[in-house]
Amino acid sequence: MAGIVLENVGKIYGDEIRAVADVNLEIGDGEFLVLVGPSGCGKSTMLRMIAGLEEISEGKITIGDRVVNDGQPKDRDIAMMFQNYALYPHWSVFDNMAFGLKLRRSSGLGARRFSWMADRIRLCSALICDILVMGKEEIMRRVDAGAELLEIPDYPDRRPKALSGGQRQRVAMGRATVREPSVFLMDEPLSNLDAKLRVLMRTELSLLHERLGTTTVYVTHDQVEAMTLGQRVAVLKPYSVARPETLQQVDTPSKLYHEPRNLFVACFIGSPAMNLASGHLEGDGESVSAVFGNTRLTLHPEMLSRNPKISAHMNEELVFGIRPGVFEDVRVARDPVEECVMEVEAAVVEVLGPETLVHFLVPSPPVVTPDIEELLKDNGAEALSLGDTTKFTARVNSDVDVAAGSRCRLAVDTSKIHFFDPKTGLRIA
Ligand code: ADP
Ligand code: MG
Repeated sequence: MAGIVLENVGKIYGDEIRAVADVNLEIGDGEFLVLVGPSGCGKSTMLRMIAGLEEISEGKITIGDRVVNDGQPKDRDIAMMFQNYALYPHWSVFDNMAFGLKLRRSSGLGARRFSWMADRIRLCSALICDILVMGKEEIMRRVDAGAELLEIPDYPDRRPKALSGGQRQRVAMGRATVREPSVFLMDEPLSNLDAKLRVLMRTELSLLHERLGTTTVYVTHDQVEAMTLGQRVAVLKPYSVARPETLQQVDTPSKLYHEPRNLFVACFIGSPAMNLASGHLEGDGESVSAVFGNTRLTLHPEMLSRNPKISAHMNEELVFGIRPGVFEDVRVARDPVEECVMEVEAAVVEVLGPETLVHFLVPSPPVVTPDIEELLKDNGAEALSLGDTTKFTARVNSDVDVAAGSRCRLAVDTSKIHFFDPKTGLRIA
């Protein structure tokens, strides 16, 4: 097992395409760390630098106690899993799993299946970091152990075609586990699966990590996957000259959700996304209200004592962040306070079963900062066209019916509103 340390790591492709800037990150021995961010933020580049498949332009990477900047992939004791798990259709489960292992020459007769396999491995070796050479007994032991671990012990001779999607994915995972590496590196390994199978395999990956305890760096652009899998999650942003930092925040899923460092993290983490509005704070020491559009919400008295920094921003332009779950229909809200109620018109209502999503428009121009623009670009930028109104989403208890087009009174738990500086995007706390 090994920890990984990245110090001031940067990557420039060719002479000018910068993919990663100044990343400092410590991944603990045995930790499951997820790298998440929109497409193009440098996730794969970072993983490939750790793997040794990509040169490190700046900084230093240490795996265990060795600086690996100049080391070959095969010296790093890692196993990689990619999006395209590329099982070979004409090979058996056994051969597919033993793909990265090669029979030592001196193992002699009785090894025909392995030498046959070795030819193909040579052809495909570009796909994996290196081939481990070992004796036949050891290969058998590792594949058996991997098959048992992943609960596919009965199929060593089957072809992938005869397996279910989940079993195939497990064979691909088995190919990585048989290497018994110090570090697993996974680049969107589940993104080719359909939604149901993805959820299933997510759990299996967590179980696998629990059983093996191998240091794992997992790349995904799916924030739900990041939050459910990662012991800690590193949020990355695409590079820009004006805002060069690649790494935005590294924290536990709960901290990222409740204490995002800035607007980028706040908007990227959480689904449906955090609602944002531009406004300001009004009032005296006794009672302070958040004002945006035609809405005025009196802040929870605890708020000011818990977050004294916000009193320095009275009457200044601020961005308010309100997560969908902070709303509740007044008919079922616990102790609703009249000064914290928004009356809205439900534009679209989505009944999901355990909860209901109510979408409504707030007469206040949408918040547009460089962070938000970056995220909108990734999602297709539709929200920008709303002019002087901003789309909000509330997640309310499904015990009450809300009809589309009807007036709806929503209580807001104002102790949970976030405040951001519109210039820096940083959360005020
Ligand atoms: P992600 O995996 O987060 O989508 P990548 O690491 O693949 O992002 O890419 C980060 C940035 O680097 C992108 O702007 C991408 O276009 C660029 N990039 C990636 N690989 C290369 C390459 N081989 N040559 C030039 N630019 C590249
Ligand atoms: Mg990628």
